Formats: sequence, structure tokens, C-alpha cells
Amino acid sequence: MTSPAPSQATAAAPVAADKEAHKPSNFLRQIIEKDLAEGTYAARRWGGSPGDAAHHASGQPDPAKVRLRFPPEPNGYLHVGHAKSICLNFGLARDYGGVCHLRFDDTNPEKEDTEYVDSIKDAVQWLGFDWKNNTSGAVETNLYQASDYFDFMYRAAEYLIDAGHAYVDEQSADEMRINRGDFGKPGTDSPFRSRTPAENLARFREMRDGQLLDGAAVLRAKIDMASPNINMRDPAIYRIRRAHHHNTGDKWCIYPMYTYAHPIEDALEQITHSICTLEFEDQRPFYDWLLDRLAEGGLIATPHPRQYEFARLNLTYVLTSKRKLAQLVNENRVNGWDDPRMPTIVGLRRRGYTPEAIQLFAERIGVTKSDSWIDYSTLEGCLRETLDGSAPRAMAVLDPVKLVLTNWDEVMGAGMLDDCSAPIHPHHPELGKREFKIGKEVWIDRSDYEETPPKGFFRLFPPHLNASKQAIAGSKVRLKYGHVIECTGAVKDAEGRIIEVQAKLLPDTKSGTPGADSVKVKGVITWVGVNDAVPAEVRLYERLFREAQPEGGGVDFLTNLNADSLKVMTAYVEPSLASGGAIEAKADDKFQFERHGYFVADRVDHAAGRPVFNLAVGLKDSWGK
Ligand code: ATP
Ligand code: MG
Repeated sequence: MTSPAPSQATAAAPVAADKEAHKPSNFLRQIIEKDLAEGTYAARRWGGSPGDAAHHASGQPDPAKVRLRFPPEPNGYLHVGHAKSICLNFGLARDYGGVCHLRFDDTNPEKEDTEYVDSIKDAVQWLGFDWKNNTSGAVETNLYQASDYFDFMYRAAEYLIDAGHAYVDEQSADEMRINRGDFGKPGTDSPFRSRTPAENLARFREMRDGQLLDGAAVLRAKIDMASPNINMRDPAIYRIRRAHHHNTGDKWCIYPMYTYAHPIEDALEQITHSICTLEFEDQRPFYDWLLDRLAEGGLIATPHPRQYEFARLNLTYVLTSKRKLAQLVNENRVNGWDDPRMPTIVGLRRRGYTPEAIQLFAERIGVTKSDSWIDYSTLEGCLRETLDGSAPRAMAVLDPVKLVLTNWDEVMGAGMLDDCSAPIHPHHPELGKREFKIGKEVWIDRSDYEETPPKGFFRLFPPHLNASKQAIAGSKVRLKYGHVIECTGAVKDAEGRIIEVQAKLLPDTKSGTPGADSVKVKGVITWVGVNDAVPAEVRLYERLFREAQPEGGGVDFLTNLNADSLKVMTAYVEPSLASGGAIEAKADDKFQFERHGYFVADRVDHAAGRPVFNLAVGLKDSWGK
């Protein structure tokens, strides 16, 4: 698979659609291109801020060719599914000379947290997008909160009542449910359905004024109780709820239902293409019905927004629901929203994901109309691809055991340290070199030594008899960027655990010297000198769930938690990563630890004297193998 260079994947400047030919087309692009070609929205005006028909009529022709929006409910941290939606909406706006609004959907007077609001803004900007748009030289700050539209929503409700399109229903919740019917059975009209507009208006105002108890009545749209689409059987549009709202305080004791609020929010903001996930498909007729009625009444500008649905992201081994992710956090199954195992944007970031990788992922998975599962390895592949070309290389020993070069003193001289160097990036010599030293003792990975090597093992093993009692010599391997050595044996402790591996250094075999190729080796191992190694904490992560579909078969996802998803290693890394080194690691910096994978200096815990690295992604797709 070919991949665009990172710089292409992040191109932030507004580019005309025809220059974006490398972007795979999708049905949403086709819809927008058709609307642009036909001038569907060309006559729109923009009042400079959200508002009703009159407000926009008094404004300029809209400088934005299309308006999209990303409308999160601020009730948790955003996850990779939201990232898809952000890349889609902000990306389409950017590509078609439009703008994308960030709108907090806070019409539910549920506890909302400024922590969530801040984290959402942060996530959008970190991904490389902004709600501040510079269209035709005028800076627009399209950051909105839906609760600012409560007054208009109320006014629209009174209009609907007046026009005979809504009524106050006082059936009990049970009666209402029974009378709604079901897929096979049409609904039954409520006895309150035939109230006059005047009666309804008076009663609705009593609802508003707190004269009815919570749940005693709802305002319903008057559409069709026999509609085959149950969402059109007089849906509730306002309910009574004595709840404090973070923005409007105690001003309201009635709140709009989401299905009523959302189309109005879009309309006031002059959204052209309102993109949502497939589960809202059955709501589209109501979306259009409502906006058609409000347009007829002259309340909102025309042409009104249109809703389009796409398949939500389902990613294997991952949960994409704020509520369920909140459960993992609240029950301490993970260490917070930004735990590197979390599919939240803050979690991915701390894991070492880059905006480029996530944008590439969003582009690669595309948008479709049918639900499917994306394999987690697709996301990992995008990270690998975007890091490979840029991440400095370094050596690290994750599970160290000491290797002693027993003839060092004779060959090299007692106490001698020999200089070694390695390119910072194998394909970018201009980035320079890392320097470190080799001496009599080096750290190697425990798994690089086998007392009785399995077939095909080319790393360290001592002289031994194989299964057919043949004498096999100790292996010869190269210490990467250093010398060739020949393994002679190992020292074990009382429990039989290897505490030291031993080898002889073969003179004149150092990398980069004329004798380097005099001895052929099958294996090359990475190492760090005992004299200049830097201790580091390395956190190895695996997937949080053992099953590709954590809730497959209807099971509780907690039963599928992977108990081994975090392993903390006391590792050694090469000195160039330390303060003042050629590739000094600062929080958030990414590296390729040779042979191991890509690692990131932890954003939270990494410090100059106490390095902490997280495994971002392995070098190869090894899951399940
Ligand atoms: P959650 O259940 O995680 O809270 P949500 O859809 O209720 O998800 P919102 O805050 O309402 O979360 O979502 C904001 C936007 O993100 C919506 O437009 C929604 O369509 C989109 N979105 C949410 N989850 C996904 C997903 N898995 N794939 C694509 N888009 C998503
Ligand atoms: Mg939600």
C-alpha cells in the first residue's frame, strides 16, 4: 500500500476540490459537489452569527460555500469515532471552501463539565482543525452552544402550536407508549390531540411557567399517528424537567427534545450539510418536516439544511461510547481518560499517535452507508507509516540481562571504552549521528539468549550438543554498530535464572571498519553499554480487550478486559536520549527503538532525570500471531 507523505496528509490550507484528486471520493463529496454545481446554497446570506430568517436576510451573501458542524455533547472525552467525524466535517469544509462550526450540544440539562468542554476544544485543535475560519478575509469564530438557542426553540414551539402543528399531550407515559403502536400496528390518536391552538398555547405556557409537575405533560408535534415511521407518530418535542442548566440556570423548567433541538440548531447556524451517523436515518423525515414547517412560517432561512447519514466507526478491540469509556475510568479499570490504552483522543495522543496518523486513518477508512468493523491494525498501520519517515532511531534494552565480553581487557585494554555511532535516521543522513560507547559489559535483551536454541534462532547461544548429539559452536552475532562476538556461555543463579551471558569479542570486526565483514554473522542484536546506559521506565501496552468485538454476543465488555494490557519494564536506553544527547527525549517525542517498535516519551510522567516511554506501536503487525 502506498501512503502519502505526512506533509500531504496534513495539508491545512484551503484547497479547491479538484486539486484534491488524491483523496478518495465518497458519497458525501459527491453530494456537496452536486450542490455546489447546481448552486443549491448559492443565494444564502449569513447574518454574521446564528439566527432566524430575518437575521440572516439582513446579512451578506454567505462567504462560506458550505457550512458543516461537529456537534458533540460535552459529557465525556472524545474518542476515535469522534475523530472520524471531526476529520470528515472539518475536512469537507476545508476542501470545499466552507467552514465547520464547533457546537456544544448542551440542550440536555444533564451535568456537563467544563473539563469536557475544554478537552473537546483541545482535541479538535490538536487534530489540526479550527472553528475560527478566515473566509473572505473576515474572521469567524464559529464556536457555539446549543442552549443559546433555547429562546428561539421556544418561539418556534409556540409557532407550531399556533399553526396547528403541535399540541400538549397529558396522557401518562404508559398510555402514550401503548397508543404509539408498533411496527405492525398504527398508533391511536391521543384524546388531547384535538385541542385548539388557543388551548394548547395556554397549556404550554403553564408548562413553561412551572404550573405542571415533571412528566405531567409533553408538547408533541402533530404529524401522523398512522405513519409507518414511528418517529413521525407525533414525536414529543418539549418535556417538563425541573433541572438546573449550566448555561441558562433555572430559567427553564421545560427542555426541548434532541430530535427537535438538533434541526433547529442546524438551521439557525445556516448549516448546509448536516452529517450524522446512521442511527439517525429514521429521524430524517422529522428533521425535514420540522424545518419545512418553520420555513413556511418564515422563522428560518431557506433553503434549510439537509441531513446525511454515514456509518459510524466500529473499531475492533475498542469501545466507542463515551458512557462505556467513562465506566472504565470511574471503575479504575484504566488510569484515567488519557490512559494510553484508551481510544480517546487524549489516550491516543499519550500513546504516541499523531494528528497525521489519525487524519490518514480517517481518510483511509473513508465514509460509507453501511456499518462494518475496521480492523485495529489499520489504525496502527497509519501510525507506523507516519512515524517511519521521521522518528529518530535509538537502541533500548527492555528486559535487560548483562552480557560480559570476557576477553575485552586483552583485546581492547582494561577499562577501555570504544566509540560507536549510528545514524539518527537511516534514510536521512543529514539528521546526523548518535554517539555511544561499548565496553566490557553491555545490556542485552533477555530474549536474545537461548541456552538450547530452537531451529532458526540466530541470536546468542552457547556451544552445545543439538538433538542429534552434534557439537554446535557458540553463535557469532554482531552487536549492532559494534563488534562481532561469539557466545561462550552464561552464569545462572541458584534458581537457574540467567544472570549473566558471556561472549568473546572477535578483534577487528567493528562496524564501519575494513574488517567488519571478515566474519559472516546471521544475527544482529541491539544493546546498550553498561557504562553509559540510561535507566528508563518503559510501558508496554497491549489491547485493552481480548476479543475483537468486546461486546460480541451481548456480553458485558468487562468480562473481556485483557488483564495483561500493561507491562512496566525497567529498561535501559542509549545515552543519546538523555539531556544534552543528540536525540534528547522530551515529553511527546517519538522514537523507533530498533527492533522493538515506536515509542513516545510519556506526556505526563516523562522527565529529564526520569525517562518514561510508552510503546506506541510495534514494528510489525503482530497481533494474534
Ligand atoms: P457517545 O455514545 O460516545 O457519547 P455520541 O454520538 O452520543 O457518542 P456525540 O457527542 O453526540 O456523541 O457525538 C458528536 C458527533 O460525533 C456526532 O455527530 C456523532 O455522529 C459523531 N460520532 C460519535 N461516535 C461516532 C463514531 N463511532 N463514528 C463516527 N462518528 C461518531
Ligand atoms: Mg451522546
